Amino acid sequence: MKSTLLYEGKAKKVYFVEGDSEKLILSYKDDATAFNGKKKSVFPGKGKLNNEISAAIFEYLQDQGISSHFVQKLNETEQLVYQTEIIPLEVVVRNIAAGSITRRLPIEEKTVFPKPLVEFYYKSDIWDDPLINDDHACILTGLSLHELKEIKDNALKINDQLRKLFAGINLTLVDFKLEFGKRKNTIILADEISPDTCRLWDKDTMEPLDKDVFRKGTGNLLEVYQELLNRLEAIR
Ligand code: UDP
Repeated sequence: MKSTLLYEGKAKKVYFVEGDSEKLILSYKDDATAFNGKKKSVFPGKGKLNNEISAAIFEYLQDQGISSHFVQKLNETEQLVYQTEIIPLEVVVRNIAAGSITRRLPIEEKTVFPKPLVEFYYKSDIWDDPLINDDHACILTGLSLHELKEIKDNALKINDQLRKLFAGINLTLVDFKLEFGKRKNTIILADEISPDTCRLWDKDTMEPLDKDVFRKGTGNLLEVYQELLNRLEAIR
């Protein structure tokens, strides 16, 4: 079914599908990177965990009426998705202050925002994914302000759904990153949602169940990703 390699990123490979030009296969790798690729490691089994976690989250979102590129999980490390033209924006939603916002602005970690913030970053390794405003985003992507508003509204809707999902497994959704793509002139959710792209804190201990354990070197990545998957599977 898998045909030639279309693209290899830091965490996934993307393949064409034999005889189906509408779809692609995402293959999750065992690599972990942080700080724009400056910190790197390999965790055998991470690809399987992220494939399963991301598939479970996309299935949940589809059940809540959020349309996305996700079609189905194929095997331990691969999933079938619709091909989209990826919009080069990292759409970050923040409920609680952590990470880069606490280094850029005088906002203390753990500050709860009165309402969720949406930020746009331009997806470009050579430019180091800069934070940009709406006007910059329109110029860099060719999207209209109306389309950008649609993405923002969609990101906030996804935040509401994800907060509910994670609250049900005793986790606080601190922040996360989304990517969107265009398919047949419609903007849909794409890429992955996993502990690589979210900050999730246990409600009782405040301990992270996400990539911060690797970024900060404070825990065992495979153990915390497995714990997250176990909790998601327990409510399926
Ligand atoms: N994020 C991501 N990919 C990126 C940058 C950020 O998935 O290239 C996620 C990150 O895991 C966190 C959220 O977006 O859940 C906000 O990240 P932040 O801007 O705080 O950057 P960081 O300090 O994590 O590099």
